[in-house]
Amino acid sequence: MNILVTGGAGYIGSHTVRLLEKTGSRVIVYDNLVTGHQAAVKNSVLIKGDIFDSERLTDTIKCYSISSVVHFAAYSLVGVSMAKPQDYYHNNVAGTLNLLDVMLENGVKKLVFSSTAAVYGEPEKSLITEESIKNPTNVYGRTKLIMENAMADYSRAYGLTYIALRYFNACGADAAGDIGEDHQPETHLIPLVLKACQGKTKGLSIFGEDYPTKDGTCVRDYIHVNDLGQAHVLALAALYNGHGSDVYNLGNGNGFTVREIIAAAEAVTGLTVPQTVAARRVGDPAVLVAGADKIRQDLGWQPRYTDIKQIIATAWRWHQAHPDGFAG
Ligand code: UDP
Repeated sequence: MNILVTGGAGYIGSHTVRLLEKTGSRVIVYDNLVTGHQAAVKNSVLIKGDIFDSERLTDTIKCYSISSVVHFAAYSLVGVSMAKPQDYYHNNVAGTLNLLDVMLENGVKKLVFSSTAAVYGEPEKSLITEESIKNPTNVYGRTKLIMENAMADYSRAYGLTYIALRYFNACGADAAGDIGEDHQPETHLIPLVLKACQGKTKGLSIFGEDYPTKDGTCVRDYIHVNDLGQAHVLALAALYNGHGSDVYNLGNGNGFTVREIIAAAEAVTGLTVPQTVAARRVGDPAVLVAGADKIRQDLGWQPRYTDIKQIIATAWRWHQAHPDGFAG
């Protein structure tokens, strides 16, 4: 199998590429390196290209006889999506539609798509299943939901088969210690907590302590990036085995508040996290926890990392060894 991985130089992409390589597949990474890191691609071919560049995409698909795509290349920050919706609609919607055009023109009809828990918005029940109402509270979630709906239409009309994976909060790093989370600027909770306790920032701002949760801070479901990556491996295998288009939640099913994450990080590192309480971040739902039974049952997915301290420990190892990320 020759697989094109867009955004394969990014955080989740690079971890997934490594897992796909282990299956014996040929992986071609396609990444514009705006947020991705060349150094995160260790063994696979890396094509520097944009998902809007139809010619380069077509050449890549033809040159490497690509038969399926795993599509990570997207913007994914809730806060920025509210401030700069144009960027998000352009990249996540128009860019993905362009990729789909090129795929269909070249007869590539299998796709694993990065979606998000943000498609649900403020859930009615604490445990979210795939059937829960989708009412995104931020632009990022809306762009992903638009693409899920478009893919459902393309599936019916053009024979595209896709599996959309709705990620909850990806975190942690590969045990090998040579790839990990490195966003510029960093906005995600766990890396920011670890940077704060290393003294690399002025401290952590807790975005709101007046949510209807046990300690007033937001609850999220944190899932190790390799467990997330493994779900892509299983999803792709399912598509090759004739599985039809489908959608799955990907999370551990356990929610942790921001304060619980800080406490877990302090226990793992033995350090203190300097912290202040700040205003709520626009677009943040109070609680997002995954019901992920469907992917366990259908695809046999089994997360290996279920303990939050164990997950944070893998991130801590990466941060200690790479205090400046890939640049260091
Ligand atoms: N968060 C926070 N301070 C920060 C970054 C994040 O309090 O500096 C909170 C944020 O409001 C959310 C949770 O941590 O409730 C996880 O945020 P993150 O940006 O990591 O992921 P998201 O849930 O937005 O995908």
